[in-house]
Amino acid sequence: MKNYQVNDEGYYGEFGGAYIPASLEACVKELRENYLKVMDTPEFKEEFGMLLHDYVGRPSPLYLAKRLSDKYGCKIYLKREDLNHTGAHKINNAIGQVLLAKRMGKKRIIAETGAGQHGVATATVCALMNMECIVYMGKTDIERQHVNVEKMRMLGAEVRAVTDGSMTLTDAVDAAINDWSKNQADTFYVIGSTVGPHPYPDLVARLQSVISEEIKKQLLAHEGRDYPDYLIACIGGGSNAAGTVYHYLDDERVKIVLAEAGGKGANTDMTAATINVGREGVLHGFKTLVIQDETGEIREPYSISAGLDYPGIGPMHANLAAQKRAKALAITDSEALEAAFELTRMEGIIPALESSHALATLSKIDFKPTDIVVLTVSGRGDKDIQTYLENR
Ligand SMILES: *Cc1c(COP(=O)(O)O)cnc(C)c1O
Repeated sequence: MKNYQVNDEGYYGEFGGAYIPASLEACVKELRENYLKVMDTPEFKEEFGMLLHDYVGRPSPLYLAKRLSDKYGCKIYLKREDLNHTGAHKINNAIGQVLLAKRMGKKRIIAETGAGQHGVATATVCALMNMECIVYMGKTDIERQHVNVEKMRMLGAEVRAVTDGSMTLTDAVDAAINDWSKNQADTFYVIGSTVGPHPYPDLVARLQSVISEEIKKQLLAHEGRDYPDYLIACIGGGSNAAGTVYHYLDDERVKIVLAEAGGKGANTDMTAATINVGREGVLHGFKTLVIQDETGEIREPYSISAGLDYPGIGPMHANLAAQKRAKALAITDSEALEAAFELTRMEGIIPALESSHALATLSKIDFKPTDIVVLTVSGRGDKDIQTYLENR
């Protein structure tokens, strides 16, 4: 049987691993040797479970979208991560990693953020747990994501502007890694998606796996069977998708569809469709598919959706695509916008632009009337209202 989980060396097939400078080896090793042990303790499980339930508001509903189902000729359930506290799935991961940091004796939390969503989730949890929080953010992104910057500050985090390079996410990652290597003894680096050196992709996937754990129970209650015919999720780095598919990876009855950001089109230079156009390379400490030019230089990705605007993809997903376990569809900006307006008008749910990419796959798949589909709505659209208004 094929294995889609990480192996002992930190690889998913040929992707993953830990490509890090010598200065980081000790802290990555410390994390690798502790994360499973800590997460397996009854104390961790109890506190994590309590916070997901009472603070985040889990389980998130699994909602049968009737009008959407009628339109696409199958049964479509929406997994409502948009209803979580702070408006997306990222809080599941932030809580888990800060709990882990505390148990590893760390006092200081650092994170990097592009659009600001992961920064806000991390700052939220640090306020809750009374931890020092420093968020690295490119200066360009600080100017673009003003509201999230103010939220982080209100929550008590220090937002540090990064003025190197293109002053965006990639440069913020470098700044966070630099901080981590200098402050290993007391600092924990909270990564926001299934990316980075091993064990981060596995750690984040496990923390988000509560999504598919709940889907199993909820589908059984709704349908009398605990698996769908299709699972659909959008992918930036891959964390909401990893959580959605985690407990179904070995169940080949379940087809997996990943929606990546096509931008202006996967055949143009303005795209973030990594699985469709990327080639193997090393990015941010792991081997994966990377959007690059002929010389191997990373190409600046583009998407209308800030959360999907990443030049790489988590190693789990690169492998799922390589093994043909998952199909990756590139969704353009305009297709995503159209899907957002459709969900809003048909179901009264304004989705995040990222999630709209997942919704746009519905019109590209040939469903049978008996098909049961679970689609994860990773976040709510409040943060994207300006973009929606400009593209009405
Ligand atoms: C950050 C974000 C994403 C993309 O991140 P993944 O790790 O791929 O899940 C998707 N949707 C929303 C709402 C986000 O905030």
